[in-house]
Amino acid sequence: MDQLAEWAHQWDMQLNISKTKVMLFGAPNQSLDVTVQGRPVEQVIHFKYLGVWLDEHVAFEEQADYAASKATKAFSKVARLIDGRKGISPQIGIMLYKCLVRPHLEFAVSSWACMKESSLQILERVQSRCLRTVLGAKAHAAADAVDAIANVVPFRIRLQQICTLEYARIMQRHGNCKIRLMMEESCLIRQTFTPMSYVKHQARSLYFTENVAVKEVHNSTMADILDDVPVTRLDVVGEGSSLRCSGLLVDRVESFIESHRKQSVICFTDAATSEAGVGMCSAAAIILPPDTEAKEIEVFEVIPRITDSIEAEITAIVVALEAALELLRSSTDSVKKDKVIILSDCKSAVTTVIQRPHLSDYHEIIQRLRFSLQALKSKEVAVSVGWIPGHSGIVYNESADLAAKTALEKATVVSDGSVSLPVCKRLVAKQVNRRWQQRWTRSVTGRVSYSFIPQAGRTSFLPRDRCIAVSYVRLLLDDTTLKDHMYRSGLADSRQCDCGLGVEDAFHFFFRCPAHDANRSRLFRKI
Ligand SMILES: [Zn+2]
Repeated sequence: MDQLAEWAHQWDMQLNISKTKVMLFGAPNQSLDVTVQGRPVEQVIHFKYLGVWLDEHVAFEEQADYAASKATKAFSKVARLIDGRKGISPQIGIMLYKCLVRPHLEFAVSSWACMKESSLQILERVQSRCLRTVLGAKAHAAADAVDAIANVVPFRIRLQQICTLEYARIMQRHGNCKIRLMMEESCLIRQTFTPMSYVKHQARSLYFTENVAVKEVHNSTMADILDDVPVTRLDVVGEGSSLRCSGLLVDRVESFIESHRKQSVICFTDAATSEAGVGMCSAAAIILPPDTEAKEIEVFEVIPRITDSIEAEITAIVVALEAALELLRSSTDSVKKDKVIILSDCKSAVTTVIQRPHLSDYHEIIQRLRFSLQALKSKEVAVSVGWIPGHSGIVYNESADLAAKTALEKATVVSDGSVSLPVCKRLVAKQVNRRWQQRWTRSVTGRVSYSFIPQAGRTSFLPRDRCIAVSYVRLLLDDTTLKDHMYRSGLADSRQCDCGLGVEDAFHFFFRCPAHDANRSRLFRKI
């Protein structure tokens, strides 16, 4: 310590001894005598460092309480916008909870996720309390049902997700990176989780079940950046939605082909994935040769590993460029063709191809893209890319779509087990949904709500008007101010309706009770 102080002094920096503390982790009640140049340094049992409360036992009780109190304080501001049945709609309330309150519960949480069960329960209760207020549910409403209605992932599962992604981000570093080595070597100490081993443990239960590893990050070389060939963006159909409505879209694309075909090779690209958005993928392209007499060429490629639709869409563009290059090479035409036009129905792929970001997760396919672009440039051919809406009757786009699907059907599953971070994120999100579904199916509470909303992780319809929304949520929770429910919770003397014709439950109220006949017939007239 003295050496450190001396070194600091040499560089004109003074160590502030009064702000310097000593803490001994994992061995409580032992005192250390640490001095700096004769002055004792105070030993503490907990300390807030980079916004997280650390404690000697590495139990993070203070931190969990602190996060809970910060979240509660933040929620009190949201709660001011709600006054019983008046105020903001549940939908806005849920959004405010997600962006103003939940971040406090999740701040740096992967570093203190190894907290005690009791601390975790405190945080779970904060989420339930906030969501109940936002939805206008009563205080005893089942937490699982409230999560499902609000479509907010249960906090415990969310914690697993955060830890898993943190693990993936660390393992994405290069093999000799310090933090990655620490993660690989982390282990239990005296049968207790250390923060890092806990992250690894949580990741194991989610991440390893998919049997994948995350690819190492890629850094572009100087040559990639300096020798980059520009690609221009084409605006064929504008935003497309107004054209699609007016039915002019197909005409617009056909006249575009008509006016450009003589000077250019036009390609339509599309991709297919085996499961929604992520899985095994295939890419295909339809190439229209400049010669209007010649038949269009169909090319395709199957990507034999787990990836996402964006990589597949970029691959389709690359496949098209390679085929176009081949076509131009073999062409014996006397008129020179100096343009390749690609029309893709994926906006992200179009943007990636134009910008080619240097830290992209799709660097392998982008590298291949660079080769084709350079080859085309050496033949003085310019490349432009444009977006067209998919599934809107454009003939060549439909045939590219069909070609990709056909290629995928014939493919067999091969996987090299290493996936990019965005693919990993999607796989984890899928797992999270499966976990949540399991928990919701097995839960013993909120069974009536389960019969209405059997699937977790789906946005449920909530009326905009708060008063109506609160009544609707209470119907979903089977907990209204009807006598059947009031009697159950001891707030009414009988379950019988005042009309004397039966039990006042939701069915009676809506379909049977003569007291509401007038309203009911008005409702039926409107429907
Ligand atoms: Zn009645």
